[in-house]
Amino acid sequence: MELLSFCLSHTICWLFIVSCLARSILRTNGLPWRRATKNKKKKIPEEENRMSLLDLPDLTLDCILEKLSPSELCAMTSVCSELKDKCVSDHLWEKHMEKKWGRLMGDAAVKEWKSHVDTLMLCLGDSSRSSFSNTKWMRSRIVANLKPFSWLSRNHGCDYRRGSQVAIDSVMYWYSNLENGKFWFPAQVYNRENGHVGFMMSCYDAKVRYDCKSDTFQARYSAHGRRAAEEKVAWQRLRPSRIDTMSRDLHVSDCLQGLRPGDHFEIQWRRTKEFPYGWWYGIVGHLQNCDGEENCSCHADENVVMEFRQFRPESPWRATVINRKNHRETGNETDGFYGGVKKLGTEEEITTWKRLWPAQVLE
Ligand SMILES: [Zn+2]
Repeated sequence: MELLSFCLSHTICWLFIVSCLARSILRTNGLPWRRATKNKKKKIPEEENRMSLLDLPDLTLDCILEKLSPSELCAMTSVCSELKDKCVSDHLWEKHMEKKWGRLMGDAAVKEWKSHVDTLMLCLGDSSRSSFSNTKWMRSRIVANLKPFSWLSRNHGCDYRRGSQVAIDSVMYWYSNLENGKFWFPAQVYNRENGHVGFMMSCYDAKVRYDCKSDTFQARYSAHGRRAAEEKVAWQRLRPSRIDTMSRDLHVSDCLQGLRPGDHFEIQWRRTKEFPYGWWYGIVGHLQNCDGEENCSCHADENVVMEFRQFRPESPWRATVINRKNHRETGNETDGFYGGVKKLGTEEEITTWKRLWPAQVLE
């Protein structure tokens, strides 16, 4: 009953209006498909005026279903098997996936999910379907029980004890796993550990999972000798992990020759060679012997000054100098090791870093 009232109040009412409108149009125009139906069997007069949502042409019904939210689509799956088949369709969920999770589901997270599905398939004894050669959704239809839709209960106060069978390889299953916080995925976290002073203006790899109750994330960082975790990480502090540079790989710096004072960059840094790299934000500075903006020729020098302006000028962390030609990884056990560099190309990247700027200059 709860489900029915939910549907009536949130979805069906709206759909019913559209259905009535469609019905009125159909009556007026006397479309051929409707007349053909009438000829098939003799109808009781009052039944002739009734029309089910499923009597609508597929395209019209699809247009209506596309307007539904994820929770409304889930609710509709419990109405009847025909509507369920339509409401679990990947094409309806891809749009919701993109809207809510598109920014964070980078290549690394997609790869992780596929590997997770692969493992599930293997566990279910279907090894023949377990290899994926492209980035399209996997097509084998092994089902899993989503029970209950806990994120729905939290968001809408509904109790879906019955659960629902959905394909493991469906976008809906992926979406539900993200919302339920069952899927830990790779992402990078800005200013890790709640802006711990040792990590301000950096971005580190982590495994994160969503908590729909607080609309934030839990993060786990892996580091040599110490595991750290953090709760209540806001959406704005996350970005997708890079699949081309894992946290222990040295990034290939292909921007060094073109760097000029004032350019914004990120550089890999790690405390010792056993630690993973984090990405640190900085701005290219002037060489010590440079007169400044007017007669600057820093861009032509073989060395480039990498400045970290969140630190005081006298701080040992304020700047480092790297060689444009031969740079790979430089540093020592005291100052840490500076790795690959990437130049920030978009205003959005720079704005994101500026938003994270500490309230006070660091020592
Ligand atoms: Zn200069």
